[in-house]
Amino acid sequence: MNIALIAHDSKKELMVQFCIAYCGILSRHNLCATGTTAKVVSEATGLKIQRYLSGSQGGDQQIGARISCNEIDILLFFRDPLSPKPHEPNEFNLLRLCDVHNIPVATNIATAEALIHSLERGDLDWRDIVNPARY
Ligand code: PGA
Repeated sequence: MNIALIAHDSKKELMVQFCIAYCGILSRHNLCATGTTAKVVSEATGLKIQRYLSGSQGGDQQIGARISCNEIDILLFFRDPLSPKPHEPNEFNLLRLCDVHNIPVATNIATAEALIHSLERGDLDWRDIVNPARY
């Protein structure tokens, strides 16, 4: 599966801890992330991550383009709900695209844990059936 990671600055440490905890599962999938998120997670875990631009430079839109092409199976987007971001409209669009394309998305660690366990159990294998050509 193709898994995209994005974490706002105040959530980056949480994302790192999440990826350390689930490194074994994540290492069996294709990962991509916005710039700084990719950097801190790959440095902490050794996971191979395709690195896009920073969110503020359009990295979230690069991930959005892949979602539009049905190339992303799960989005883990740890948002900071307390501080508004200049590129917030793009982020809302990203979540909208997940709804348009029926992509499982987690915006907090509780849902991310539920998704990662679903992934491990094979509950998300229907994604392969929806579009087997991606693999
Ligand atoms: P970053 O971008 O991973 O480059 O920090 C994420 C964001 O803040 O939108």
